[in-house]
Amino acid sequence: MEQRVFGGTGKQVPVLGQGTWQMEEGDPDEAIRSLRAGLDLGLTHVDTAELYGHGRVEESIVSEAIAGRRQEVFLVSKVMPSNATYAGTLAACERSLKRLRTDTLDCYLLHWPGSHPLEETVRAFEKLVADGKIRSWGVSNFGVAELEELVELAEPERIACNQVLYHLEERAIEHAVLPWCEARGIAVVGYSPFGNGRFPRPDSPGGRVLEAVARAHDVTPRQVALQFLVRRPSLFAIPKAGRVAHLRDNAAAASLKLSRDELARLDAAFPLGAYSDELPML
Ligand code: NAP
Repeated sequence: MEQRVFGGTGKQVPVLGQGTWQMEEGDPDEAIRSLRAGLDLGLTHVDTAELYGHGRVEESIVSEAIAGRRQEVFLVSKVMPSNATYAGTLAACERSLKRLRTDTLDCYLLHWPGSHPLEETVRAFEKLVADGKIRSWGVSNFGVAELEELVELAEPERIACNQVLYHLEERAIEHAVLPWCEARGIAVVGYSPFGNGRFPRPDSPGGRVLEAVARAHDVTPRQVALQFLVRRPSLFAIPKAGRVAHLRDNAAAASLKLSRDELARLDAAFPLGAYSDELPML
């Protein structure tokens, strides 16, 4: 599995990771097997959040999947904006650590911009780093205006990543957020790479191009999509697979190489769309 430097952490992190949102809605044993199979295949970036299943995903699924394997995992969780005061962030982190049965997170994110002063959240993140509770921190769903506010409070090297919505039919980050993060060495983690289950239909114009490229490589359209979404060195993707078969399909995308011509065809088949100040999120 290809690894890349994860923002200012300097750590090598696999280009494909594993999402865990809504895992509690499926078969939890299969989800645990899927996460473990992912670790076996090098998808060691595991993304979770206190929000997911109101803590149940951290407590009953991720903690089980990483039990005895913590050292292999690049473990990421997120604080809810409503908890992101100074004291609230510290407390939320403690709760996540307890649910995950670990003593440290590799990265801790603010889930989306909220109404509490960002300065408090950043101060709490730095306190958690100093105390060894987290190794790095970042943000999620931050547009350029919010990122500009953030770099008034912290050097860009302190910000590991910005986790944002990114799939073939939602490429808004490419207008401004992606170049802004790239210029400052901040990793861009694309979430919902399959549109949270709304993957392009094979009979749609874009879907037909995806199918054609996939056929040429004898791979699946999802594998093509994943490779497209990590085609720049700042990019990571965190597909969620609650089933082992899906996980294996996604992991195999790592070895796919798309030509410049294929990337151009995909680029044209899934147009970027107009710029908006509003960053889309799920
Ligand atoms: P996604 O990864 O775009 O899509 C997940 C869906 O695709 C699931 O229904 C899954 O089915 C299915 N799937 C996965 N691999 C497949 C395959 N090879 N073939 C067919 N179907 C496949 O959706 P997501 O969960 O929204 O996004 C991924 C992760 O990003 C989340 O889990 C979460 O960790 C993170 N995220 C973050 C935010 C944020 O605000 N920061 C927001 C949304 C998501 P099965 O589960 O049945 O395998």
